Amino acid sequence: MPESAAPAFVSTTNACHLCMPLGACLAFKGVEGGVPFLHGSQGCATYMRRYLISHYREPVDIASSSLGERQAVFGGGPNLRQGLWNVITAMRPRFIGVATTCLTETIGEEPGPLVEAFLAELAGKNPGVTLPRVVTVRTPSFGGTHTEGFRRAVRALLKALARPGPAGSHLNLLPGMASPADLRHLKDVVRAFGLEAAVIPDPSDPLDGPAWDTYTPVPPGGTPLEALQAAGRARATVAFGCAAGDASGPGALLRDRFGVELLPLPLPVGIRASDRFFATLEELSGRPTPRRIRAQRGRLVDAYVDAHKYLAGVRAAVVADEDLAAGLSGFLAETGIQVAYVATGDRSGILEGAVEAATAGLLRDPPAVRQGVDYHTVAEETRDLGLGLVVGTSKAYPLARDRGIPLVRVGFPIHDRFGAARQRLLGYSGAQDLFDRVVNALLAQRQEASDVGYGYL
Ligand code: SF4
Repeated sequence: MPESAAPAFVSTTNACHLCMPLGACLAFKGVEGGVPFLHGSQGCATYMRRYLISHYREPVDIASSSLGERQAVFGGGPNLRQGLWNVITAMRPRFIGVATTCLTETIGEEPGPLVEAFLAELAGKNPGVTLPRVVTVRTPSFGGTHTEGFRRAVRALLKALARPGPAGSHLNLLPGMASPADLRHLKDVVRAFGLEAAVIPDPSDPLDGPAWDTYTPVPPGGTPLEALQAAGRARATVAFGCAAGDASGPGALLRDRFGVELLPLPLPVGIRASDRFFATLEELSGRPTPRRIRAQRGRLVDAYVDAHKYLAGVRAAVVADEDLAAGLSGFLAETGIQVAYVATGDRSGILEGAVEAATAGLLRDPPAVRQGVDYHTVAEETRDLGLGLVVGTSKAYPLARDRGIPLVRVGFPIHDRFGAARQRLLGYSGAQDLFDRVVNALLAQRQEASDVGYGYL
C-alpha cells in the first residue's frame, strides 16, 4: 500500500461524541412551544430520547417520521407528512424543528421542500388556522458530532426566523450547550447589568421544569418565536465557544445578513474567561460589574488560594465537547492543576489553538491535545501520563475506574449521577461550584486510599 493511502480499516470504540441530530433536538427543545422531529427511523428518536431523559430527568418527546425499509427505497415523503400532521393535531405545538438522520441523508432526501409543500397544502385547506412554524436542518451524523448538530440547528433557526428592522437595544446571547442552571445564571447576570438579552436557544425550563399537576404535551418555556424574529434587530450578539466567531456560525449569519455586531467569547469557565465575559457586559451596559458578582470573584480567588496545597502536582485529563474542553483546560490550569491531556470527539480542528489561548502562561508544559478521538484512544494515550484526575462526562468513568482516579463529571451526558440539569460551570459562581467538586473529589480519593483514614485533611 502506498504510504499516502488511507488505512484499510477504521473503527471507533466508545466515541467521545454523540449523534449530530441529537444536538439539533436539544436546540429545538429550547424554542417556546417547540417539538423536535426526526426525519428517519424510530430507533434514532428512541436513542436520543433515552440520552436526554437520563441526563435531564425530564420527559422529552421527540417525534419521528418512522421510516422503514420500504421508505428507505421509495422515499419518506408520505411518512414525513403523516408524522407532521400527527404532531400538529395531537400536540398543538407553535414550532416544530425537523432534523435529518443518517438514513434520510444516505438516501439523499432533503426535507425542506417536502415540508414547505405540505404546509402550503395545509394552509390552503385550512384558511384562518394558525399552523406551527417549521424549521428544517440537515444533520448527517456520519459527518459531525452533536455539537455540530446543535450549532447547525441554531443557525437554521435564525436563518429561517430572524427578520430585519430598526435596531433595538436588546442583545442576543448564544450560550451553546449550557445546563439549565447555567442558562438561568446567565439571564440573571445580564439583567444585573440592566441589559435585555434573548438566550438562543433556551431549554432551561423545558428541560428542568417544576412538577406538573396535569400532563402538558409541550412543556412551557424556551426562547419565544418573537425573540428569534427580533434577533435580526439586536444591538449585538454575544456568542460563546471556540468557533463562535466562525463565518459559518449562527452569530456570523446575524452579522452578515442583518449587520448585528458579533462579540465572540470563550465559554466563561474559570476566572480568566469569566473576566472577559463580564468586561464585555460592562462595555455593553456602561456599568461596572455589580458588587455581588465582584464578591463572587473574590471568594473564588480566596478558594483557589486556600486549596492550592491539595492541587499541587495533580495531573489531569479533560475529555469533553470542544468548547467545554477549552474552557475546562483554562479553568484547571489557573487553579494550579497540570493539564496533561485534552481530548474531544469534535473534529473542527480548532481545539488546539483554543486550549493554547485558554492556558497561555499558566502551564509548565503544554498538554497533548487530541481531536476526533474515541475513549479507546484516550485510554491508550494517557496510560503513562501519571494522571490523578479526569474531568469529563459519565462516559469517561471506565477510564477513571481503570486508573483508580477520581472523575469529576461535567458536560453531556451524565447518566450515572443525579442533578445534571442543576450543574453550574459558568461565571465566577459556576467556577466556584466546579472548583469545590474538583477539590473534594481529590480529597475523597486521598482519604479512601489512606491506611490511617484521616478525618481531617
Ligand atoms: S448516528 Fe445516525 S443512525 Fe444512529 S441514532 Fe444518530 S442519526 Fe440515527
